[in-house]
Amino acid sequence: MKRVWNTHSADETREVGIQLGRVLRAGDVVLLHGDLGAGKTTFTQGLAQGLGVQGRVTSPTFIVAREHASRGNGPALVHVDAYRIRDDQDMTTLDLERSQDDAVTVVEWGEGKAEGLSRQRLEVSLTDQGEGSWEDVDAGTRVITFLPHGDRWNDVFDKESS
Ligand code: ADP
Ligand code: MG
Repeated sequence: MKRVWNTHSADETREVGIQLGRVLRAGDVVLLHGDLGAGKTTFTQGLAQGLGVQGRVTSPTFIVAREHASRGNGPALVHVDAYRIRDDQDMTTLDLERSQDDAVTVVEWGEGKAEGLSRQRLEVSLTDQGEGSWEDVDAGTRVITFLPHGDRWNDVFDKESS
């Protein structure tokens, strides 16, 4: 996979998520960085599709984590929204470790909070480049950058930066 993507719609961002979801396996940790509306949940929807899990992925507003079981034999998806977790609160004290080894864990708003979950984590930054239209809120430009940590990702991403 390329490390840097430019997308021009929510569907294109979902498509990048699908490609990543297809190569993920149990134990993987993905942290999503980006402002409100950057596309973290949209990306996770594609990731869930590529992984092949059940249920609709939404922003887990009132709960911190939602688990999606696999449709087949693959790993489950644990989708975490760390927005309401305090900076000084250790994420590893959440009741996530039960499933971290047999699930794929995706964390929105995890910057500065969730790095301790895995040294092999994949960080994904999503940036809104503006150029959106109020007539079509699903069409705007986003830059998606993969920042792999650890050798787990050596075979997943191209050596070049784009
Ligand atoms: P976050 O979870 O980061 O707060 P969401 O995924 O919930 O963001 O929302 C992103 C919003 O931006 C959606 O309304 C989506 O339709 C819109 N959007 C427009 N262009 C894009 C794009 N290229 N990629 C992702 N979302 C986009
Ligand atoms: Mg979100």
